[in-house]
Amino acid sequence: MTKQTRQTPQTPQQKNLSHLSVLISGASVAGPALALDLARLGARVTVVEKAPDLRGGGFAVDFRGHVHRTVLTSMGIWDEIHRRQTHMGRQTVVDADGNPRVDLPAELMSGDVEIFRGELARIMYERTKDEVEYVFGDSIATLGEDADGVDVTFEKGAPRRFALVVGADGLHSNTRRLVFGDESRYLRFFDLLLGFRGCGVTLLEGASLGAGR
Ligand SMILES: Cc1cc2nc3c(=O)[nH]c(=O)nc-3n(C[C@H](O)[C@H](O)[C@H](O)COP(=O)(O)OP(=O)(O)OC[C@H]3O[C@@H](n4cnc5c(N)ncnc54)[C@H](O)[C@@H]3O)c2cc1C
Repeated sequence: MTKQTRQTPQTPQQKNLSHLSVLISGASVAGPALALDLARLGARVTVVEKAPDLRGGGFAVDFRGHVHRTVLTSMGIWDEIHRRQTHMGRQTVVDADGNPRVDLPAELMSGDVEIFRGELARIMYERTKDEVEYVFGDSIATLGEDADGVDVTFEKGAPRRFALVVGADGLHSNTRRLVFGDESRYLRFFDLLLGFRGCGVTLLEGASLGAGR
């Protein structure tokens, strides 16, 4: 596998983070993505993931447009994503009798390139596993911060100290809870519900999306 070089400019300060020890909680998408960039800059990175192994599964994640491409290229994973893309084409929704009702163009459903979430996580893990320490099956238990760093205890492993701790452990983040308190203090329902309609869908002749869209 050939590694691509970064295309984003680096400042002198960015070039050497070898003095920095970083703990990232969560090895899904955000965790390994940050680990990839930090490790390239020389930081000593540990990722702790509560699952016993890298989590597979999930459905498709799609990328579209210049910004996504630029970021993925600068991370050096654009070509690999292309190699492992789903190649999803047009989708057709059929009714109970198998009659086509709605055509969903690939551009709408899968962007410029689409990949399964587990594949995306795997690509970033593979890219980082030689430089980054991955600890599976464990979780941060306590965090004690002072001016120079953070003392960390784990559910299973021995206590350690890091310069920086990053929470990449998802929606109900354990790290966020440990630092800011229970999420119920911050959760606020915006009284909004998300729905979908129209947006470039081609209705097949004689078909209808039905009332109340
Ligand atoms: C199994 C799975 C399937 C998904 N499928 C899709 C999909 O099909 N399409 C889509 O668009 N998005 C999907 N998502 C969501 C998508 O990956 C995320 O919403 C988005 O990428 C944000 O990623 P993230 O890394 O910030 O958080 P997440 O992807 O939510 O990952 C959080 C990670 O932190 C770990 N973690 C949680 N608590 C702890 C803890 N206490 N200590 C250590 N680690 C912890 C979790 O096991 C997980 O690996 C899926 C997520 C998961 C976990």
